[in-house]
Amino acid sequence: MGILEGKKGLILGVANDKSIAWGIAKSCRREGAEIGFNYLGETLLKRVRPLAESVGSDFVEPLDVGDDAQLDEFFARVEARWGRLDFLVHSIAFAGKDSLKGNFRDVSRADFHLALDISAYSFVACARRAARLMGPGGSMVTMTYLGAVRAIPNYNVMGVAKAALEASTRFLAFDLGKDGIRVNAISAGPIRTLAASGVADFRRLMEKNARGAMLRRNVTREEVGNAAVYLLSDWSSGVTGEVHYVDAGFNIGAGDPGVEDAPSGAPSDRT
Ligand code: NAP
Repeated sequence: MGILEGKKGLILGVANDKSIAWGIAKSCRREGAEIGFNYLGETLLKRVRPLAESVGSDFVEPLDVGDDAQLDEFFARVEARWGRLDFLVHSIAFAGKDSLKGNFRDVSRADFHLALDISAYSFVACARRAARLMGPGGSMVTMTYLGAVRAIPNYNVMGVAKAALEASTRFLAFDLGKDGIRVNAISAGPIRTLAASGVADFRRLMEKNARGAMLRRNVTREEVGNAAVYLLSDWSSGVTGEVHYVDAGFNIGAGDPGVEDAPSGAPSDRT
């Protein structure tokens, strides 16, 4: 019997079979969960519906998390279908492409707001609505990245959004803890996806990560999926408000030991 047997949960943010949300969906299904999905726009419905069907789900409803009316409608449909909810996975982020390259200081007010709205506030907006359908044992997970705590080149405003997302995770854990609902974030190492392709020089980031990671490789979306299963299941019943790194150990090291990034003449060159 799977460790999510009998649980009903939402996985928001499947764009295609490369999405991290899809890795999580496959792991959750393997462990017995019943899953509902969202999609953004008719083009994506064509991609998401067959994926949903392949994991036994016919719950695929429209949701743009930037729209409060759609959020209300989406969660009303969840309530009508299931009447309750055991878990929520938020795997959604967006920033204008121009703000994911060059100087962070050049980000416009509009781009800053958009990134923070879709990538951080939307988790709060979803959590509030999901919590109403959850009882003790409910679990929520969002997806973050090391750029929340380190100045990673080109990640720019998304790093600020992820910092807000991680702080939101802690405040939600505080709010919802008294109801027995847990809230955690997974900080995944770089994985090639649609969203990741918007970050300038992403291929280089992946190479550096693989060299600097304790395991000397990058992680897979399946590994992230399996970690999410743990956080969504009762096996992590004592864990909340955490940022759980699934990055092959990159974050505990000094970076990329194999490549010298410092300019010629910098102290590290002379040692
Ligand atoms: P992805 O497949 O492109 O997923 C991002 C999802 O966000 C897409 O389904 C996208 O839909 C959705 N989205 C964007 N704006 C939305 C809106 N207004 N309403 C509803 N959905 C919206 O990329 P991913 O890499 O798996 O990203 C999932 C999460 O993991 C993100 O939070 C990302 O920051 C995080 N993460 C990724 C990595 C990585 O290296 N890939 C590492 C750490 C954390 P559309 O495609 O239709 O816009």
